[in-house]
Amino acid sequence: MKIKLLISFLLIALSVSLVASNARAEPIHILVITGGHDYKKDQFNQMLASLGDKITYEIAEFPAAYDMFLPQNRSKYDVLVFYHMWQEITDEQAKNFSECISQGKPVVALHHSICAYDNWPEYFNLIGGKYFHKPTTVNGKEYPVCSYIHDLHFIVKIADRGHPVTNGLQDFEIFDETYKGYYVEAGVTPLLTTDEPSSNPVIGWAKKYGKARIVTLQSGHDVPTFENPGFRKLLKQAIEWVYDSGKNKE
Ligand SMILES: [Zn+2]
Repeated sequence: MKIKLLISFLLIALSVSLVASNARAEPIHILVITGGHDYKKDQFNQMLASLGDKITYEIAEFPAAYDMFLPQNRSKYDVLVFYHMWQEITDEQAKNFSECISQGKPVVALHHSICAYDNWPEYFNLIGGKYFHKPTTVNGKEYPVCSYIHDLHFIVKIADRGHPVTNGLQDFEIFDETYKGYYVEAGVTPLLTTDEPSSNPVIGWAKKYGKARIVTLQSGHDVPTFENPGFRKLLKQAIEWVYDSGKNKE
């Protein structure tokens, strides 16, 4: 009897581990949305390729990328990565965009995507932040125009060492652009901070928007960051972590 019990236990353990490994066997297909801001495409794509064969990608540029929020296209990708700074949006596009995310499509928002949509406040709620090109009132508080400085060496500090997005990372140096004065939603989970005085203190966070996990990373202006091992690890782990929520929905 004891041996029978042991064998059935082993069979159950084996099938559980097979199910778990099957869940990870499929690559995560990311859709990177660009448009409204130049960037070094070759080096950016090298960073995406460096994430390994468990993450595949394609690029869509606004305004054509709006089609990817339509209900019939939402199953074509697992995770959205924002690297756009788009401004124009119609009411219909806004409805499909926010509905796509709130129903569970996860997002990793990078760098100048914090500066997009000056006139669409729901986007601030969606990514949990906003760089202001003009004085803007959010939740009754008026924010002045933000500022930026290029080409600074500074330390990215890990604020939450227990979070899957920062797992295995130590504080690391980066050469990047800073933003100061941007809005960060009160309820977010801070992941990264910096003491650099030309920057907001919180430069990376996680949150939920509807059913979707969202991670926003302020860094990512240019090639030194695309090639930074710490940033690459953050991006990879952010994609994997937000994907876990998409996978479990419905
Ligand atoms: Zn920039």
